[in-house]
Order: sequence, then C-alpha cells, then structure tokens
Amino acid sequence: MSSTVDRCAKCGGELVLDRGSVLDAEHFGYLGGRVHCVAGCTSVWLTKHKPIVERPLDAPTAPMTREPHEVRCRRCENTFLAKAPNAMYCFPCGVTRDRARAREHSRRRYAVA
Ligand SMILES: [Zn+2]
Ligand SMILES: [Zn+2]
Repeated sequence: MSSTVDRCAKCGGELVLDRGSVLDAEHFGYLGGRVHCVAGCTSVWLTKHKPIVERPLDAPTAPMTREPHEVRCRRCENTFLAKAPNAMYCFPCGVTRDRARAREHSRRRYAVA
C-alpha cells in the first residue's frame, strides 16, 4: 500500500488492509481491498479496476494463420505451401488418400449390402 492512504482521516490511526477483501476484490476484477482503522472508526474500500492486459497483436499465431506456410507432408515428406491451418498432406497425397478412403468406403458399403 502507498503511504498516502495508510492513515485514518478521523483519528490518524493506522489503516490496515483486510487480506480477505483483497481476494474478494480480485474476484470481481478489482485491485485493492477494504482498509479499516485500527481504532475501528473507518472502513473503506479502496479499489480500482484491474488494468486490462492487452495481448500484443503481432503475437505468433502460427497454427491459426491463413497465410501460406510450409508444411511437411506426412506421407511423402515433401515440404509444400499450405493455406489450411491443419494441413498434413501435400496436394497429390491428399488426393490419393481421399480416393483410397472413398474406395474403402464404397467397398465396405457393398459388403454390408
Ligand atoms: Zn480511525
Ligand atoms: Zn505428399
């Protein structure tokens, strides 16, 4: 606490910061807490809004970016430029993989029928 608020305005007694109130204030998004005079004649809340912590706008957000970025294909291990944030396969590998999956899908469907 700063030295400007640690004296009671009425009796000049010492002001004590209530520890529990600090936690209460924090819970509601404030800094500070309730201070009370040692003589018990005042009890005031000294709070202020918590400064909002702003995140830097240029923080690296690599997984979310829509800019083309280099990705290593999980199949052929070639690096390629992808726009999708969760790209795992290069274009040819993605196509063959989709085809294989579609084939397997239809085969399974006919097997059941
Ligand atoms: Zn007092
Ligand atoms: Zn590939």
